Order: sequence, then structure tokens, then C-alpha cells
Amino acid sequence: MFGILDIIVLILIRRRNCGRCGRAFWAAPPHSGRAVAVGRESYLCVCGHKYETGRREFAHLSREEKRKYLWSGLVAIPVVTTALAAIGGYFLRWHEPFWTMSVILGFLGLLSGLICSALLLVIRGLPVLASLRRTRRGEPALGGAATWQN
Ligand SMILES: [Zn+2]
Repeated sequence: MFGILDIIVLILIRRRNCGRCGRAFWAAPPHSGRAVAVGRESYLCVCGHKYETGRREFAHLSREEKRKYLWSGLVAIPVVTTALAAIGGYFLRWHEPFWTMSVILGFLGLLSGLICSALLLVIRGLPVLASLRRTRRGEPALGGAATWQN
């Protein structure tokens, strides 16, 4: 799935041209849609043209948005894998009493669901850590001084 072509595409979509002076620069692809994406908010070209990414720094999110960004779906995944594995185990009927495999597979489903959630949390956590480092270092928030109020 991640062949050399995918990597090239991933690199190329990060190469952008300034809308005013045409200078090429490297930036994350713009994010659209209602879901919150954590990342650098904007880039400033040498000519002064500002390029908005549609992303938000983690420190600038509201408390509710932070909670939703990190935790949404993390409980649902283990619940779904547990339920599916338990149902599958129930229909296997390998063992007496009939619910033994259901319990064992349900437990395994819970474990794999928890592992998935942990991985997801790590994947979401890395951009948050990078974002926090950016804002803590006091790099000028190109979004303007107003974004520093919270
Ligand atoms: Zn420019």
C-alpha cells in the first residue's frame, strides 16, 4: 500500500506555491471539513502573503474541542470489537457450556480493541505534542495576536 509512489505523492502534495509571488514552499495540505485537525495554523511567505492551513494549534482549541479530538471513538472501538468477537464466539459453539468461546473471544476482542484505541491515541497525540511544542516555544502565532487569548 505504501509504495514509493505513495511516498512521492505524499511529498508532492506538501509542495505549494505562494498565491502572490509564486514562490514554492513546503506546508501540510490544507484541511477542510468540520472535524478539528491539529497542526500549524498558517505559513507566512517571505513576500508577506499568509497561507492558512485550516488546522488549529492544540492550545487554541476549546476544552470541549480538545476532549473530542483526543477521545472520540476510543471507547466505541473496544465495545464494537468485544461485541463482534463475543457474537462470533457464540456461533462457533466449540465448547461446553455454549458461552465459553463467546467469553474467551469477547475478551480477546476487548484486548485488540484496547490496543487499537491505544494506537489511535498515540497517532492523535503526536501532532498534539508537536503543536504544544510550537506554541510553548513562543513562535509567533501567524493567525494574529487574538489567538493567544486562551
Ligand atoms: Zn509569496
